[in-house]
Amino acid sequence: MSETESTAPQVFRDIAPLQQHLQEVRREGRKIALVPTMGALHEGHLALVRKALEVAEEVVVTIFVNPTQFGPSEDLASYPRNEEADLQALGKLGKFTIFIPAAEEMYPADFSTFIDEAKLSKGLCGVSRPQFFRGVLTIVGKLFNIVHPDVAVFGQKDAQQAAVIQKMVRDLHFGVEILTHPTVREEDGLAMSSRNQYLSNAQREEARALSKSLFKAKQMVEEGVCSTDRVIAEVTHLLSQHRRVRLIYAQIVDSETLEARREIVPGKSLFALAAWVDQVRLIDNIQL
Ligand code: AMP
Repeated sequence: MSETESTAPQVFRDIAPLQQHLQEVRREGRKIALVPTMGALHEGHLALVRKALEVAEEVVVTIFVNPTQFGPSEDLASYPRNEEADLQALGKLGKFTIFIPAAEEMYPADFSTFIDEAKLSKGLCGVSRPQFFRGVLTIVGKLFNIVHPDVAVFGQKDAQQAAVIQKMVRDLHFGVEILTHPTVREEDGLAMSSRNQYLSNAQREEARALSKSLFKAKQMVEEGVCSTDRVIAEVTHLLSQHRRVRLIYAQIVDSETLEARREIVPGKSLFALAAWVDQVRLIDNIQL
């Protein structure tokens, strides 16, 4: 089907009928790919969906703003939600099974079991958002158990999330292949994010500094700089010139273990940062 045609997606809101449908899919021997999202879909999400379509006959896209990954003072209530536009965007790409559960379907009142990864999830975003990865792993683990996908696709935009999920899959034998897709960016370099919708024009302008500073870091490494301190000092300096931007962290870590690195190993080091642009928290990263 061409991307200009549109098809009505099959939407499930309850777990039992979704599982029934997927049982049939599995009986037919069709490979299942899962793409978990929180909706407010943009080209970054759609790139993951296209990748899923390439590797599996049945693609399950989930749209669920997962309450357990938000802290008490975070943006759960205001997080952008636009189901109609999401379904339309997906309808243009192909035929999907879409799962949009209510919070009570995923977390009944007596829910009390969580998944906690004790190493990779504790640094970087884990410092300022201590509840975040516990919530992410719990919901992703639940989705794996509900859908039983052969493959699941995640974005490199959330590099720590992808690494922590990969670790959970290995540690807990989930038996699902994890694929990642590179970060999709706006023309000016800003990493696409549902939270970009919060930015005013002035804030949007300042937010460009994040990706610009990461590109500068990559350039330094390509020119032979191997000192983590020097690259971080340069990035910190660049960002300090933007008065709306307040850095939460800027770190260079091993791409797989996420452990801090003093020396940059080209191809194996990840530069990750998080920053406030006024009241909007954004993250970005680049492979050095
Ligand atoms: P979210 O809806 O923000 O929870 O993201 C759902 C999935 O889309 C996650 O695997 C993200 O890493 C991925 N994603 C979000 N933004 C981008 C982007 N700009 N490029 C690639 N993947 C992305």
